[in-house]
Amino acid sequence: MEVDKMDEDDWKYHGEGNKSLVVSHVQLSRVLRLLKYPAEDSENPPQTPEQAFRQLQNIVDFSSNVMSSLLGEKFIHSGEVVKLPLEFVRQLSIKVQHHRPAWRCDKVMDIYSGCALCLPNLTSPVLHQPTHTAPLCIEIKPKCGFLPSSKHVSKDIKTKVCRFCMHQHYKVASGKWKRRSLYCPLDLFSGNRQRMYFAVRHLIEEPQNNFKIFKGGQCIYSSKEGSDDSPDLNSLLHHLRPYFIFGNNRINSHMSGKAVMNDFIQVLVNALLRGGGGDSGVVTDRHGEGRSFCEASFFNKERIRHGSQGLPSSSVLFRILQTQMLDTLDIEGLNPLYRRVEQHLQDFPKERTRLQMDGPYNEAFLEKLQKCPAEDDGSVEYAVAKVHQYRVAMTAKDCSIMVALVPSTEEEVDDESVSSQRWLRDFLSRPPAFSSLVSILDLDPKPFDSIPRQLRLDQNIVSCYLRTGGAVP
Ligand code: ATP
Ligand code: ZN
Ligand code: MG
Ligand code: MG
Repeated sequence: MEVDKMDEDDWKYHGEGNKSLVVSHVQLSRVLRLLKYPAEDSENPPQTPEQAFRQLQNIVDFSSNVMSSLLGEKFIHSGEVVKLPLEFVRQLSIKVQHHRPAWRCDKVMDIYSGCALCLPNLTSPVLHQPTHTAPLCIEIKPKCGFLPSSKHVSKDIKTKVCRFCMHQHYKVASGKWKRRSLYCPLDLFSGNRQRMYFAVRHLIEEPQNNFKIFKGGQCIYSSKEGSDDSPDLNSLLHHLRPYFIFGNNRINSHMSGKAVMNDFIQVLVNALLRGGGGDSGVVTDRHGEGRSFCEASFFNKERIRHGSQGLPSSSVLFRILQTQMLDTLDIEGLNPLYRRVEQHLQDFPKERTRLQMDGPYNEAFLEKLQKCPAEDDGSVEYAVAKVHQYRVAMTAKDCSIMVALVPSTEEEVDDESVSSQRWLRDFLSRPPAFSSLVSILDLDPKPFDSIPRQLRLDQNIVSCYLRTGGAVP
């Protein structure tokens, strides 16, 4: 890709989040991720081009030097910052505008800095063996997978009902979503196949911004925000059926929608439990499951038929959960330490750089958070290390997993061992074989000053839940 020969006709709207807008190349497996600003700032951008460049470079550094070492390099694609012609960016912003969902238009795409992140397109991965069938990519934003056990937690409910489930009540009460999602992250992170199956089923039923499916790079299933309608399950089944109907002795036989969905979820759960880098990940987190059961989950504990193996330690979910759990104090325990740092920075503004409050996100930053003393010795270094840990945990609570599923190729079927496996699988009526590729995206650093907002949000969510939550089923 030559940045001086950019043509907006080669790019199309791909998607967006709260902070960035993504366009994908029509031929190459590439995306550009551009910053967004509040619409009221559209005339005068909140930062200079140099600051925007720095912000993007920080994202790359944070992802490649900090998150990648915590989550596992095999899952991470940090990309690079590119400088683009301003005219290209302007034309692009006009072109994508009418593809954007209305509810996201309180922000505008950055057309002033002329920089963006260039990343591999994880929804149309480059495969070693090209297949005739387009890969299916499933994006999951799993959110926080554990209950806090910090002694600083002041409300008992926080140790029983998970943050996501409480937040759902708040989102419905404040009108952000019409319906509550019955997905519970603790079920997804449990490592128990039944609970994981249950969690994915609820993600499909009410995807909100936690679940999307792409086929050949196109989004084919997501929540239509602002609309009362549920997403179209029949259309999803129509897309999925061809992937699951063959090779199961079911050719010519009818496969019910339920059976297609069942196979799809099983294949996805298997991919989430696999190592992701080809290794089988036999070491498991055996004590994991008992630790976390959310009282708001609709999963009936009595239904558990098989004890859980826990999450394999090389699985993407295990790595994300471990990183989320760097939040050991909960926001309530962290807040006094945040204030200690804030006070220190007011007294000694130059310390901001030495303590790396806004980066650079390099090995020294990682070392600061990994070499944190076990006990609070009253120092600013301790407080800084805990704040850094908390921010890393926040990123892990907000990231997305992309699972690319590629049906096993014809060649593989010719292979004797595989075809005998396939025979056995058909005999047992197991879902067809897929190879999977798992990545983690959206690993931006969360700003230091976002911590007070986190505390307020936590208080609002908990008090809303205590007011309404128990009552509304
Ligand atoms: P959030 O509001 O979740 O913080 P964000 O503004 O930080 O989101 P991203 O999540 O990085 O933005 O990107 C928005 C969407 O664009 C993603 O949910 C995903 O669907 C798509 N996307 C982002 N990066 C890629 C990629 N490398 N390949 C394919 N699709 C991507
Ligand atoms: Zn829950
Ligand atoms: Mg995101
Ligand atoms: Mg983000």
